[in-house]
Amino acid sequence: MKLITFIQKMQQEVRRLHRRGKTIGFVPTMGAHHEGHLSLVRTSKKENDVTVVSIFVNPLQFGPKEDLKKYPRPVKKDLALLRKEKVDFVFMPSGEEMYPEGRQWIIDEINQSNQEPVTRNQRQSNLTNQLCGKFRPGHFQGVLTVVAKLFNIVRPDRAYFGVKDYQQAKVIERLNQDLNFGIEIRIMPTVRDPDGLAMSSRNQYLNPEDCRRARMISQVLFGLKVALLTKRIDLSKGLEWARREMARLVDQVQYLEIVDPETLQPLEKIQPEMLLAAACYVGKTRLIDNVIISLPKKKPITNHQ
Ligand code: AMP
Repeated sequence: MKLITFIQKMQQEVRRLHRRGKTIGFVPTMGAHHEGHLSLVRTSKKENDVTVVSIFVNPLQFGPKEDLKKYPRPVKKDLALLRKEKVDFVFMPSGEEMYPEGRQWIIDEINQSNQEPVTRNQRQSNLTNQLCGKFRPGHFQGVLTVVAKLFNIVRPDRAYFGVKDYQQAKVIERLNQDLNFGIEIRIMPTVRDPDGLAMSSRNQYLNPEDCRRARMISQVLFGLKVALLTKRIDLSKGLEWARREMARLVDQVQYLEIVDPETLQPLEKIQPEMLLAAACYVGKTRLIDNVIISLPKKKPITNHQ
């Protein structure tokens, strides 16, 4: 496993790999690795000749009051885990390497809700100002900027993201399409603890009592999913129940919404594909989770006698 800290060096290696016709799989991370990250790494290993993992705690995607300073950085442990997975390259640049002083660019999606939409679809296509975007101003701009830089540095054939960060994955899919990176974006399932808690580097902040409450987030989401699928309750009743239940268990429900999985717009009526998404505070820790609902397809009526 090669550890690379300079952009130029990474680009040299990538050019060499492309010349030799190797396919590159890329897993961008902020480190503090757990089984969720490792599942992405394992899939990339299966699907590509070479796997590059980046570790970079991106200051651009943290708000001024967020946890940039205390974000866990167990570098030695991370490298040992990646070595065990036989990762080929770890790209771990410094902040100065990624954002040299005096030069600043930002990638943003134009906020169409501030403008008159030309078509109905146009308003619907705005992804960054929904869900987490409402509460973390600048967050997705930071994510988009670092991911665009990393894509240009690593030039992967495939890049791997977790559906755990659903909105992030969708926003990156759109970036890839609209800026023509030509990368295959692979969105992989959420890895959970046996009790259902979605694995997250931020789970390290939780004490055992917080952990117990954090587990309820997925339980409420799955409970709502079952209620919608089996009891045919309507969305507003379901949401009302889930929000009340969640508020009883966590310290703050920042949002709990049922949205269209493509546009991320809140839904009023049940439709075949829906996303339940929540962000909650347990103590000072902000946790997100989501569940996708696909209604079973109605069997076509046949007239065999
Ligand atoms: P992070 O280090 O938190 O930025 O995450 C790096 C990548 O791992 C992102 O694509 C996340 O969506 C993904 N990821 C984080 N947690 C999980 C999980 N529990 N299961 C699957 N993927 C995850």
